[in-house]
Amino acid sequence: MKLIVVGSLNMDVIIPVNPYPKAGETVTGGVITRNPGGKGANQAVAAARLGADVSMVGAVGKDADGGQMLQALQSEGITTQHVRVCNEATGQAFIHLEAGGQNRIILAPGANASFSKQMVLEAQDVIAAADAILVQLEIPLEAVSVLIETANQHGVPVFLDPAPARQDLFNHVLTADWVTPNEHEAKMLSALDVADEASARQVAEKLLSVGYRNVLLKAGANGAYALSGSECIYQHAFSVEAVDTTAAGDAFNAAFAIEWCLCRNLRRALRFACAAGAFATTKLGAQQSLPTRQNVERILRTRL
Ligand code: ADP
Repeated sequence: MKLIVVGSLNMDVIIPVNPYPKAGETVTGGVITRNPGGKGANQAVAAARLGADVSMVGAVGKDADGGQMLQALQSEGITTQHVRVCNEATGQAFIHLEAGGQNRIILAPGANASFSKQMVLEAQDVIAAADAILVQLEIPLEAVSVLIETANQHGVPVFLDPAPARQDLFNHVLTADWVTPNEHEAKMLSALDVADEASARQVAEKLLSVGYRNVLLKAGANGAYALSGSECIYQHAFSVEAVDTTAAGDAFNAAFAIEWCLCRNLRRALRFACAAGAFATTKLGAQQSLPTRQNVERILRTRL
């Protein structure tokens, strides 16, 4: 299966901190680690590990971080021909990791902010030939909008992860086949909490009314909902020992897109995606926590 991921590449700079400081307070953190990340690159690596033939479309800087980002993708067998190397610095994400796996992230977008609609159009041929496209919002919305229009013209399904949450999302016509907010993003987009199937349906109605065609709601340790046509399916989270939720949503999105394209079975694709998300929480970091198909299948077999 040919999958295109259009999105960010960031160097993750992770510092463990416990407790997180209040305003004006100073605390000593743990040892800093630096790992390739960014929602786009994470989803690309997740998709490649799950067996897809992946091409990444995005931008990095002409610096050591950019070189490391490209190398990390290539070592997973991902095509990087459409990752533009530009003058801005490679994006960085400063991740404050608290005990229990919660994190707070501050992004310095750098090269990701210079990703343009022109770069999307330059990748038009690979976009047209794809089985599915994954995209997130760590790149300019104008480029996302052109990507979705281009994919729609070629009949290629798009899975839009509206992350990080943006108030101005509804100012852009982003008629993706699938939109996949987490609880925080769902609240920002609909002013509603996802607490049960009834509220999941209400959130989905709001998203369907602005042109999205199907909705996945990711609810962290509470699992996820899939809403497609009149079907609404809930899948509880698999019981795992979560140490770091970074990239759980990225693993979930890649896994759902692949399994949905392969089997067109909503329940099966949702279970597969939740198992992939659960696996990603059991290890520290972003790309190093992403599962292979065997890892996901093991969770499906052994965990409730
Ligand atoms: P995001 O990373 O986008 O915020 P979530 O935190 O909702 O997304 O995680 C995506 C999916 O990963 C969830 O829908 C769930 O299936 C799985 N997941 C997340 N956190 C846990 C957890 N603590 N235990 C088990 N599964 C989890």
